[in-house]
Amino acid sequence: MKFDKKNFLSEVDRILRADYATELGSATKKELYNALSKAAMALAYDDWNREKNNNKKRCGYFSAEFLMGRSIYSNLLNLGILEETCEALRSIGKDLNEFEEVEDAALGNGGLGRLAACYLESAASSALPLDGYGIRYRYGLFRQTFEDGFQHEEGDDWLKWGDPWSVRVDRDAVVVSFSDQKVLAVPYDMPVFGYRNGVVNTLRLWSSEPVEPFDFGAFNEMKGERTAEENFNATKITDVLYPNDNTMSGKILRLRQQYFLVSASLQDILAKDKAKGRRISDLPKYHCFQLNDTHPVIAIPELLRLLQEEGLSFEEAFDLAAKCFNFTNHTIMAEALEKWDALALSELLPDVYRQIVNCQERIQREGVDPDKFFIIRDNVIHMANLAIYVSAKVNGVAEIHTNILKKDTFKNWCELYPDKFVNITNGITPRRWLLLNNPQMAKEIDSLIGTEWHTDLKKLKSLKPHIGEMLSSFKRIKEENKKKLADYIKEHEGVEIPSHFIFDVQVKRLHEYKRQLLNALSILYFYNGIKDGSIEDFPPTAFIFGAKAAPGYYMAKAVIKFINEIANLVNSDEQVKPYLRVVFVQNYNVSYAEKIVCAADVSEQISMAGMEASGTGNMKFMLNGTVTLGTLDGANVEICEEAGRENNYIFGATVDEVSQVKKFYCPREILENTIGLKRAVESLVDGTLKDDSGMLQKLYESLLTGYEPDRYLVLYDFADYVRVKEELLRDYGSEAFDKKCLINMASAGKFSADRSVKDYAKHIWKIK
Ligand SMILES: *Cc1c(COP(=O)(O)O)cnc(C)c1O
Repeated sequence: MKFDKKNFLSEVDRILRADYATELGSATKKELYNALSKAAMALAYDDWNREKNNNKKRCGYFSAEFLMGRSIYSNLLNLGILEETCEALRSIGKDLNEFEEVEDAALGNGGLGRLAACYLESAASSALPLDGYGIRYRYGLFRQTFEDGFQHEEGDDWLKWGDPWSVRVDRDAVVVSFSDQKVLAVPYDMPVFGYRNGVVNTLRLWSSEPVEPFDFGAFNEMKGERTAEENFNATKITDVLYPNDNTMSGKILRLRQQYFLVSASLQDILAKDKAKGRRISDLPKYHCFQLNDTHPVIAIPELLRLLQEEGLSFEEAFDLAAKCFNFTNHTIMAEALEKWDALALSELLPDVYRQIVNCQERIQREGVDPDKFFIIRDNVIHMANLAIYVSAKVNGVAEIHTNILKKDTFKNWCELYPDKFVNITNGITPRRWLLLNNPQMAKEIDSLIGTEWHTDLKKLKSLKPHIGEMLSSFKRIKEENKKKLADYIKEHEGVEIPSHFIFDVQVKRLHEYKRQLLNALSILYFYNGIKDGSIEDFPPTAFIFGAKAAPGYYMAKAVIKFINEIANLVNSDEQVKPYLRVVFVQNYNVSYAEKIVCAADVSEQISMAGMEASGTGNMKFMLNGTVTLGTLDGANVEICEEAGRENNYIFGATVDEVSQVKKFYCPREILENTIGLKRAVESLVDGTLKDDSGMLQKLYESLLTGYEPDRYLVLYDFADYVRVKEELLRDYGSEAFDKKCLINMASAGKFSADRSVKDYAKHIWKIK
């Protein structure tokens, strides 16, 4: 594609005139953003159209979440016109950075949704024919603020700036039927640009609308109220993203969303094949579907239903479905594996339910033990079991996670179908997570080893012989990134962080298993030690947190309150201020992550071993040259394999130890016998911190009382955590420490999402 500054600006000007009755000189920021984005889209139209009409086998990536973040910079980068556009704007006195105000498309909760977004970008950049299918939520993940230290949620109006990177495709609308309503599914297509390779794939997001436009006839006949209500119900399906991460809520509206997504997508795919004259029995020749967690698993009975409507028998339909579907498992936590009440599902979707029953009966006909292999039991539908039974391949997302699936969570299924289970370790796109978010560092790397690493991240290992010469520029760029982040935090959170402090970062969804509480208790331990003189010459450290808690997750919200109160205590204490700062940033999202990841000195990945399936935040930090302070969990294990355990800071119980410890665990005993721990924990209830809500009391109780006190071994791992953390902080500043950072960066090649999607393509999708 050729970029001509003059032509491009005149195209932007033309769009401004046609769509906004304005022109380059007088357009507002928002008008300019929209016109410029549309002009860039037009440049790529031919490439997009070619991809839609070729005859390749394609993968449909079905996901209830796509955490896309901001599109403009990433799209301009991948189109190869980022610098040129920047210059073009400068020539008319504008600044591309002004679009930093544009809202993130936060159509996902956390890691799972961000993974889907990285895979779209990496597939396009690897010229793999993969399209995303998802939901165009009117409101994405809530916007978070803190008031008096408590989390508050507001609606996320992500369309405030318009949506110029989507195209509404009315001609592809389909009807989705529930027992009590029919709704129209209208697709909005987002182009997914490969990195400078002319490939454009599609993210198709479905929006629900009334089948009939507002019925004025009925309204005039005084039936207005009912009609208005029907309209209301239709749009409601895609109104809002459920803000739960790693938990299942069992709400019927959520089931409606899931069915809406997969029914619309499958109808669309089958109709297009029919229009192209393809035989229905050739479905697996042209398509495969990746089910991102259990959320879209209802696609399986829906495809069975649709194929039988086309005249196939159940067995014929099953045979095709079994070749098309694959399933990614993201968690071993029981509370996240979706289960639906059979009665509720059969009432909402009777024909789909029949197909689930058919699957259940089919597996029983195979003569297997019904106590081990079931889809429906005691009137509960187990979506993961349905997915495993029908899918060609089932994958976990890191070696350790896949091993747990095989040996434990799905042990029975793995014995029955040993070849189904495979591992595909997660990855991140190096374009967004190094080139874009850390451009100075990227340039420095380019100057040493060239640019091949942009699309072949393993090439970073040729940095290894250059580590010595790179030390000073690495430190300088990190320092600049830290200054920028500190300025941003000062402006948005009102907390001052001197940039010579160590930036110790834990950013991720708030979850008990992720153990932000462990981090918080260690800060109180350091605070107490500095105050009473038992800790001397503590290296100045800023502890930076970012996390949203699901609005209904009481304990997670309590942890936010706890950390905010610790921040108040520490940041206003003149004696410890030279050594400690604490800040919990508000509304952690992809754009905030981009700023934080390039400025971190320590990456906290401290989940209880066995709980974090992979993690991808850990990879972002590694790629930007940050050491991991972590447990042997998820991809941390593979990070250590790649970069060397000696170049990271590993602590805590292993998976095997966790299961041993849990047999006789007595947190009270640990509390009494661990130096400094009791005092830190008692802060929750002894009046050190302000809280009239009772939340901190409940946190305290969760550690020491109830059916399973300290479920995530916070107290058990505390001593080792604090020991290794202090060692890390005291290593900071040495040349040896900086070398560890750079060895991590140079060893991050495995964690490119390019590698992940190529593994999927080769072992699962069989696409080229
Ligand atoms: C990468 C990312 C995550 C996932 O972080 P983990 O540490 O792997 O849980 C969550 N949210 C955002 C905004 C991210 O960019």
